[in-house]
Amino acid sequence: MGSTALDPKGYTQLFLNGQYVAAKSTETYSLKNPKDNTVVVDNIPIAGPADVEAAVKYAEEAFHGPWSRFSAIQRTECLLKLAALLDDELMPILTLDSLTSGIPVSLAPVRERNYIRNCLVYYAGWTDKQKGDYFPADDGFVKLVRHEPLGVCAAINPFNAPVATFFLKAAPALATGNVMIVKPSEKTPLGSLAVASFFEKAGFPPGVIQVITGPGSTGALLAEHMRIRKVSFTGSITTGKKIQEAAARSNLKRVTLELGGKSPAVIFEDANLENALTWTINAILTRSGQLCVAASRVYVQKSIADKFIQEYKKRMEEAANDLGDPQDPAVRLGPMVDQAQLARVKKMVERGETEAELVVGGAQYGETGCYMEPTVFLNPKDDAEIYRQEIFGPVSVIKTFETEEEVLRLANDTEFGLMAGVFTRDITRALRVSSALESGVVGINCISLQSLQAPFGGKKQSGIGREFGEYALRLFTEPKTVLINMAA
Ligand code: NAD
Repeated sequence: MGSTALDPKGYTQLFLNGQYVAAKSTETYSLKNPKDNTVVVDNIPIAGPADVEAAVKYAEEAFHGPWSRFSAIQRTECLLKLAALLDDELMPILTLDSLTSGIPVSLAPVRERNYIRNCLVYYAGWTDKQKGDYFPADDGFVKLVRHEPLGVCAAINPFNAPVATFFLKAAPALATGNVMIVKPSEKTPLGSLAVASFFEKAGFPPGVIQVITGPGSTGALLAEHMRIRKVSFTGSITTGKKIQEAAARSNLKRVTLELGGKSPAVIFEDANLENALTWTINAILTRSGQLCVAASRVYVQKSIADKFIQEYKKRMEEAANDLGDPQDPAVRLGPMVDQAQLARVKKMVERGETEAELVVGGAQYGETGCYMEPTVFLNPKDDAEIYRQEIFGPVSVIKTFETEEEVLRLANDTEFGLMAGVFTRDITRALRVSSALESGVVGINCISLQSLQAPFGGKKQSGIGREFGEYALRLFTEPKTVLINMAA
């Protein structure tokens, strides 16, 4: 394992064309550690138009230059080498990232649960598998179909999973021969800046991966750029719509959107209660609820509601004791990402108190830092904000139901459609309900789970397009049809 701690002061420049360089823009901003609001670093650059222009130029040079001559096997070798290099380097990078994300280092993907490494290895295996298509010359023309890369792609990433999102976008983009400019969230850029230089060491030519920092204004420059061919976005619905609009107004660049959720967990009376409790609680507390697939709406069948709710409340109450220093390897529950996010969650909870019964938590935890108590509401009004909107904090809402028909109506009565879970021992009901739930992913006796091999993404306003698996490759390539005249 890598041992030396990374100094945040070493990551205050953009990563362009294979090097850390000072931004042309002189604007900067500072970042605090949400555990105590102390300043971590005070000069993260806000990349402006000239910086974005430089990144696009270098990206184009790489795309048309050395990178275009890499064979599929060479791309595989680079991805595998990167995975091997990160075996030693990932932990220090994620520890650095934790300084401003507040994500507990204990949750870092290492050893058997290293989904970052697995993602690189998985996509390394795909570089030569997109074989295209062939149609015979029954009309005098042979038809070949090639899957070609799109060119310069941009990743615009959210604050809550900075390094993982980086790889989930970069690995399929690079496996298919694209180049990528990554803009991490302004709240959590350090891990992405640190990761960038390892691509070079793994053999990727300069310009294939670049990282620029800055807030929404920098993201907007990417979204409206005339020579960026795709934006792969993960973040809120509001921003997703702005990106889609900017893409349409500029050059109709391709856009995939991984957006928010308000995921329902539906617990039937025959469910294994211990299993349902474990999954639903983990799924609202992981990263303190700052998770797109958080199980924030829990529906329990009336006949078991008292028993389930009593135990759910007890565990959520006890979880407050787990809150602690995210840089301490023994701590599993950290703070909100910053004061703004804490204030947002507190305000929603405050308003929620008039719209539902507050039964656990409801307040900031402690006096220093951005900690929020695990919070549970019961029986929300139908139009309650806490029931309808994504909170992105450790806050869940429980409602009871009597019939399958009723709970399907309740669970689907939303514009979100990212993830859902159904808990039952009845396989027929499980399959029936999984097909009726309107979401991109449904867990049976589990929730808030993603698999690298299978498509992940949202229905309705939770997104457009899919990441993970072969599906991600399709959205980083476009088919080109070649017609061969057999009579010539
Ligand atoms: P956000 O939308 O505020 O910001 C995301 C990114 O967009 C940031 O990098 C930000 O700088 C950038 N941005 C802001 N305005 C922009 C603009 N006008 N043009 C271009 N870029 C702009 O989201 P967030 O608060 O960082 O993340 C939380 C949200 O992300 C939640 O809604 C969560 O559900 C969602 N999310 C979804 C998934 C998923 O896979 N579906 C995963 C993680 C997070």
